[in-house]
Amino acid sequence: MRYEGTVYRPPSEAESLLIQATIGCPHNKCTFCGMYQDKKFRIRSVADIKEDLLMAGKYYGDTVESIFFPDGNTIIMKTDQLADILNYAKELFPQLKRMTVYGSAKYLALKSLQELCLLREAGLSRIHSGMESGDDEVLRRINKGFTAAEMIENGLKVKEAQIELSEYILIGIGGRERTQEHSLESARVLNSFNPNFIRVRTFNPFPGTPLYQDYMKGIFTLLSPHEAIKETRLLISELTGPSQLFSDHFLNFAPVSGNIPNDKMKILETLDRILTVPENKFIRPEPGHL
Ligand code: SF4
Repeated sequence: MRYEGTVYRPPSEAESLLIQATIGCPHNKCTFCGMYQDKKFRIRSVADIKEDLLMAGKYYGDTVESIFFPDGNTIIMKTDQLADILNYAKELFPQLKRMTVYGSAKYLALKSLQELCLLREAGLSRIHSGMESGDDEVLRRINKGFTAAEMIENGLKVKEAQIELSEYILIGIGGRERTQEHSLESARVLNSFNPNFIRVRTFNPFPGTPLYQDYMKGIFTLLSPHEAIKETRLLISELTGPSQLFSDHFLNFAPVSGNIPNDKMKILETLDRILTVPENKFIRPEPGHL
């Protein structure tokens, strides 16, 4: 089994077998992202991926219940090739319940509804998608590669294909300047297709990225802990659901999770209580933690 470079995976894939299907990210232009800067993007051959699956099957065959296929935007693989490795994995791991990949709206747009249905039949059960913001101005500034309207269109398509969708929102990515628009527009976009999971994490500048340079020059202003919690609160207060919300990233100042809409009031009350804690009691990690 081989793994190239640093491992990046969603928190919910901590127990999953990780088999790289792609190396790097085909976009690799988001101004805040330093994950794959050192990698030239390529799709691994199906033969190599199957070889790794076979080897993992020999060691862990009876124990693996979920597989995540890094790196960034593996959904870009040709549909028949991705379906091939998904079907192969099903043969090797009898306890398998879930197979997942990363896929942003830019690359989901390349798949038709029929192709997504085919992938679901092959075993693709969830797509992790970095939306970051629903505000077009923020999306443009961070060079995300898609608009809010494209996010909605592709989110609806994934839902129609009956593949679970996990959307990631980056708290503070609009800076102080766009905090209101970032919250309200993100909620509007999420309410348009209600992903199964909404995960929030707090932006932390990563050295070497364009946004880090803006932060160092004072062009981009980080939210304070209270401002970040208020932004999270405004977002959640506008969500209609149904979705499962998770604020479980170690960079977040307020760990709150629950069902939207059922737990919404409870979550908002918790955030209000956390906001009574003085700002100097919150610990902000050093830049560089993702
Ligand atoms: S945030 Fe995602 S899409 Fe953007 S460069 Fe990083 S891995 Fe690629």
